[in-house]
Amino acid sequence: IMMWFCLCPLFQVLVIGDLGVGKTSIIKRYVHQTYSTNYRATIGVDFALKVLNWDSETVRLQLWDIAGQERFGNMTRVYYREAMGAFIVFDVTRPTTFEAITKWKEDLDSKLMLTNRESIATVLLANKCDQGREVLTNNGVKMDQFCKDNGFVGWFKTSAKVGTRTHKHMHTLTHPRAHTH
Ligand code: GDP
Ligand code: MG
Repeated sequence: IMMWFCLCPLFQVLVIGDLGVGKTSIIKRYVHQTYSTNYRATIGVDFALKVLNWDSETVRLQLWDIAGQERFGNMTRVYYREAMGAFIVFDVTRPTTFEAITKWKEDLDSKLMLTNRESIATVLLANKCDQGREVLTNNGVKMDQFCKDNGFVGWFKTSAKVGTRTHKHMHTLTHPRAHTH
């Protein structure tokens, strides 16, 4: 609707990770679950826009999906350039997607460093938690340490299938140094 012409701040948020971890599903879940009258769903094929209120300020959140390019395990610098935050997603049922996380993080950091920017706030999402796996966490302790060691601001278990507190995840990125646990 007219929201599209809103001149409020625009935040670009990347959603990256291996193929099939649920990136597109997470974006769709987030965009469709609430504020359903406020969003402009898909623009082109690669990103979704959501208009929302953060601390009584209206902002536009542009969620960047990667369609197909995740096969290559890295993105072009242009893709990362304007981002203010990122989610790196893995699938709790597939350990190889967890192993790929550091690769994605390095790709992100190295390409943003080339533009002389600080590393952007990055949150780790352990998706498909509805599958009942605990393979990668030990009451969160291992994951907390992993996040610390690898420069993530925090992590969350998510399920695009059953729905999760996605708003909280998004909020983490606007308060990037906030403690998430
Ligand atoms: P992408 O390649 O990272 O964009 O992954 P998709 O969003 O296309 O999801 C890949 C597959 O995983 C699809 O069959 C989804 O239905 C499924 N999927 C995504 N999220 C979840 C989840 O939270 N739980 C379960 N059980 N399946 C999911
Ligand atoms: Mg996808």
